[in-house]
Amino acid sequence: MSDVDAARSVYLPRRMSLARTLLLRASRSPWLAEQFRKRAFARRAVRKFMPGESLGEALDAASALAKDNLGTVLTQLGEQVQNATEAAAVRDHYLQVFDQIRQRSLPAHVSVKLTHLGLDVSREACMHHVLDLAAKARADRTFLWIDMEEARYVDATLDIYRRARADGPGIGVCLQAYLRRTPQDLAALLPIGPAIRLVKGAYRESAEIALQRKEEIDAQYETLAGQLLDATAGGRATVVFGTHDLGLVERIGKEAVNRSADARYEVHMLYGIRSDDQRDLASQGVKVRILISYGSHWFAWYMRRLAERPANIWFVVRSAF
Ligand SMILES: Cc1cc2nc3c(=O)[nH]c(=O)nc-3n(C[C@H](O)[C@H](O)[C@H](O)COP(=O)(O)OP(=O)(O)OC[C@H]3O[C@@H](n4cnc5c(N)ncnc54)[C@H](O)[C@@H]3O)c2cc1C
Repeated sequence: MSDVDAARSVYLPRRMSLARTLLLRASRSPWLAEQFRKRAFARRAVRKFMPGESLGEALDAASALAKDNLGTVLTQLGEQVQNATEAAAVRDHYLQVFDQIRQRSLPAHVSVKLTHLGLDVSREACMHHVLDLAAKARADRTFLWIDMEEARYVDATLDIYRRARADGPGIGVCLQAYLRRTPQDLAALLPIGPAIRLVKGAYRESAEIALQRKEEIDAQYETLAGQLLDATAGGRATVVFGTHDLGLVERIGKEAVNRSADARYEVHMLYGIRSDDQRDLASQGVKVRILISYGSHWFAWYMRRLAERPANIWFVVRSAF
């Protein structure tokens, strides 16, 4: 390797990680959110990752994807609501989403963020909203997923998940492979027969709380994936791998065959990311679902998507001209 190549290989990852840090910091700026939302070019760039701001557009996209044998998961963008009325309105919105899914016979699930359902306002009220939505999902024979947000919400999220799971199946929770605590969280959840969506993790967390290096995160993901496949093969868990990492998906596929769990897991990806690969996987017989986001509160979520792949910033730049 030449000196120039060596220098570049050190410099590039550092520059990428600086971009990631800045984007994740920006995701928490209300001023930037306001500036961005007003700009037509930013709305154009966001369209790469969402079919539109309205529920109708999300449902139409779900219907189109169903024709390609792709299931979907619908989620309204929004987080950290600050009053009880807003949180109750979010619950009511999702009850309506379940009605629409049933009326249109869509193979769609729903995913929620607990801070969107008022976790910061009242843990008790938030839990009741989740119980209502889980009961609705069960009655409609579909599924409710709970996203995992920043590390400070993990205890409350898992408590609420356990309480809701005690009422019956039809509800799952996301676990993030980058958190140092996740192996213990998974071990503690397995006895209740959980449904787990395993992801790498999308937030900015300190080194004390979360693994920082991609190789370490990927290794922890694979270890957890193996444990989840074992539990799934034994009928003790339902598992979804939420990732666009195709190498990982392939290795998981092979491990699943070794453990006779190949018909039992799903792969979930985000709308607009690796769309051709989503179709290819489905045509190879993998059960694939696409998470479709909609709504007007897309700024923080969009910054996290840019942080996952800072090269995406070029979409924003190109959309400006
Ligand atoms: C269905 C689903 C649900 C999720 N739910 C949560 C959640 O509740 N909580 C949470 O913290 N995180 C969640 N995430 C995000 C997740 O934590 C990761 O940040 C994200 O999936 C990127 O990691 P990766 O596994 O795709 O692997 P990476 O190693 O980051 O990416 C693998 C490859 O995928 C492609 N890729 C990845 N991201 C992008 C992107 N944004 N744009 C373009 N290409 C990309 C690139 O080619 C990249 O090389 C979710 C992800 C998915 C797919």
